[in-house]
Amino acid sequence: MKYKILRTIFSFVLLGSVLGALNDYWSGWFVLVVVVIYVCIILILSTNIRSNFFQHTLHSGGGKQGIGLSFDDGPHPNTLKILDVLDAYEVKALFFCIGKNIKQHPEIYREIIKRGHVVGNHTYSHTRKFGFLSTRAIIAEIQQCDRIATEVSGLSTRLFRPPFGVINPKVSRAILATGHTTVGWSVRPYDAITSSPGRIYDRITRNLNQGDLILLHDNIPQTVEVLEQLLVFLRQKNLAAIRPDHLLDIDAYT
Ligand SMILES: [Zn+2]
Repeated sequence: MKYKILRTIFSFVLLGSVLGALNDYWSGWFVLVVVVIYVCIILILSTNIRSNFFQHTLHSGGGKQGIGLSFDDGPHPNTLKILDVLDAYEVKALFFCIGKNIKQHPEIYREIIKRGHVVGNHTYSHTRKFGFLSTRAIIAEIQQCDRIATEVSGLSTRLFRPPFGVINPKVSRAILATGHTTVGWSVRPYDAITSSPGRIYDRITRNLNQGDLILLHDNIPQTVEVLEQLLVFLRQKNLAAIRPDHLLDIDAYT
């Protein structure tokens, strides 16, 4: 709805600027400026999952007490170390898994579920071109991941997190078509691109609030160290780590 309004406003402004340029009220450059501004607005909104502009996405438990932990991009051999740390602190998390990784490590995918965590869909290939795919290609990415996940575990997840947090109109249409619930995050410490565990830990803990959902990556070795420190911090601050589907009050499986 918000997108339709933005598109309608853009169409009128573009039409007005084209007519103005044709009648020499202003130069053709103005038309270009209008288009560039529109493209920039769409890009900013598409890459900010928390904008909720194209798709309603769950980011936190609102006022609910507790913190949720989510891990993207597994399953991976490093996931087993993450699972051991979570077990040691008796914490359950949410893992958004990539279809081709599930295919490669089916036993690790089953282990995640066996240890009481929940799983979600993170597309089949996690391609860097995700934001440029057609609606049909995105649907295929989501369904292929679903198919492998169900074959391996017998469970059909409702939950979906788009790679890189990109939600544009095509991604939104694909999510609607596949019927998934989209889950974002409220805390992103960039553990996949930051080399210093201390900086990652600081980014998480400096402004952590009840209800927050943290995004981490289980395929990154240094995340194990950050996770241990974080779980100690949560205990010290009396913040309970709650399984994210409970924090968000949603059903993880169909
Ligand atoms: Zn990812």
